[in-house]
Amino acid sequence: MATRNRNEETCALCNENPSTPEGEHVIPKRLLRAFFPATSGPFEIQGGRTYPEFQAIKLACCLRCNGILNQRFENPGGDPAIRLLEHGDITELGQNRSYSTRLWILKTWLLLAHPRTEYKVLDPRPPAWTHVPEEVFNWTVTDAGPPTGLSAWAFKHTPNVRTDSEDLPRIVLPEVATESSHHTFQVLDLSIAMVNVVIVYHPGWAIYHPGVASRAVEQVWPAVPHTPLAPLPVRERAAVKWWTPGPYIQLPSELLRADTLPPLEPNVPPEELVAGIATGGGAPRVG
Ligand SMILES: [Zn+2]
Repeated sequence: MATRNRNEETCALCNENPSTPEGEHVIPKRLLRAFFPATSGPFEIQGGRTYPEFQAIKLACCLRCNGILNQRFENPGGDPAIRLLEHGDITELGQNRSYSTRLWILKTWLLLAHPRTEYKVLDPRPPAWTHVPEEVFNWTVTDAGPPTGLSAWAFKHTPNVRTDSEDLPRIVLPEVATESSHHTFQVLDLSIAMVNVVIVYHPGWAIYHPGVASRAVEQVWPAVPHTPLAPLPVRERAAVKWWTPGPYIQLPSELLRADTLPPLEPNVPPEELVAGIATGGGAPRVG
């Protein structure tokens, strides 16, 4: 395969500077070395499909943004994140490593969803998050924190992985429009090194994940203040199935707030959740 010359590309994160020839390794090289030596079966699963190979996954990135990613995520969070992926547990590292580990997971899975991320061997690639605001990705290289409306959950697979999901509770992610905005809710459900992480973009509409209370998943993001990451629950398969694209729903903008709408939950269609809400103005419309 010909090597692309990223010098001719603009950085995917700041959209200003030219990319370095190397770009950003979305899965850092030391993680690849730790988990994907030739002797161990690389493992990646997504949407019920397992991939037998795992190679460099790259994103066009400039020198400046690369430095920020290292300083902000890799240096503080890279080691504990590798430990989490390996053992499913970082409790012995102490509480203060949890926050940087959470941020590392969120950053890494977001970049895996970036539309410009190049997958050499995964065909089809994991779903790209198109139609999301740039801030969903570019907060990683600005002074901003993660935008609201991002969640992440994780669990660790048992050695006998089950990929069937037909009978799992289903959480449907809608497409939501208001007078002034349009949001396509997104999900990336991807396992690396036996750890499954699901990230979801769901601005303005909270999600009730029943696996948090039942300890089927650990909530990685949003971080509960002063709460360390607990050991990841160990499971044969996921606790819920994510469904997208869901229905197209029109809402008055004042309703699209996480404290207004009943949370999205398993086996309840989003349109049912908004059907009974008195809006005072225009009623929700489902198309
Ligand atoms: Zn840049």
